[in-house]
Amino acid sequence: MTESGWVEVGRGVFQRRYKPMDVSVIVVVGPTGLTVVDTRNNPAEAEEIVRDVDARFGRPIVAVVNTHAHYDHTFGNQTFAALPSVPVYGHHRIPQHFAEYEAPRLAAQQADPSREPDKDWADVVLTPPDVLVTTRATLVVGGRTLELIPLDPGHTDTDLAVLVPDCRVWLLGDVIEESGPPMFGSGSYPFTWPTVLAGLLDAIRPGDVIVPGHGAVVDRDFVVRQMEGLQKVADTIRASVTAGTSLQDLPADHDLFGLWPEVMLESAFSRGADQLGG
Ligand SMILES: [Zn+2]
Repeated sequence: MTESGWVEVGRGVFQRRYKPMDVSVIVVVGPTGLTVVDTRNNPAEAEEIVRDVDARFGRPIVAVVNTHAHYDHTFGNQTFAALPSVPVYGHHRIPQHFAEYEAPRLAAQQADPSREPDKDWADVVLTPPDVLVTTRATLVVGGRTLELIPLDPGHTDTDLAVLVPDCRVWLLGDVIEESGPPMFGSGSYPFTWPTVLAGLLDAIRPGDVIVPGHGAVVDRDFVVRQMEGLQKVADTIRASVTAGTSLQDLPADHDLFGLWPEVMLESAFSRGADQLGG
């Protein structure tokens, strides 16, 4: 994935898929500067972005956007925050989400790296965005217009859609995933996630390009299919909770098992049951 380098997915909008995790980093090229969307897993990985961006585009980075709070999209923030005059934009709830999920997880891993040995977090200093986005905003950065759209709770309660209106490219973070099923992880909202996608579909036009947080670009029809799958999860959780049954009571050939690994469904069911329980 990394070998393929930067792929132009719309005029002057480039995606690069980085290992580990096949995470998308996007650069929006403007006449006077670059906006980088998402910052990877740690400062060393973020420094690699800075080097790759410099080698490919040779223009200054003038802004950074986080699509949501999860570590694979924000733990490189400190590298960009240290650059002169580079604002980092993100959903206004990221500081709360960090306090609830990322901060304790990072502290536990740094105290005992054997807890999550695949994570290279020794040098991470949790760095929330310094510009918190509360309502839809139109920005002109580096001479290019971007729309930042804070979403209702879905993949997380910190999801922020980015639209590059002049070429109709959407950067949706993990609200949509292509290289694997969309993940029900820390702080997901299985009941409202499909509604969030329905709202986005009202604005996404046929022919628009959608860049997921992980994987290759997709089209509007893919978003429709992912919304339908997420709706099926939501409906099944609701029916199970109402009936007093659990994931383990679903028949082994239930079609959800063809869409998500069981461990992820367990996470969705436990989040859903908590949310229905009020
Ligand atoms: Zn992710």
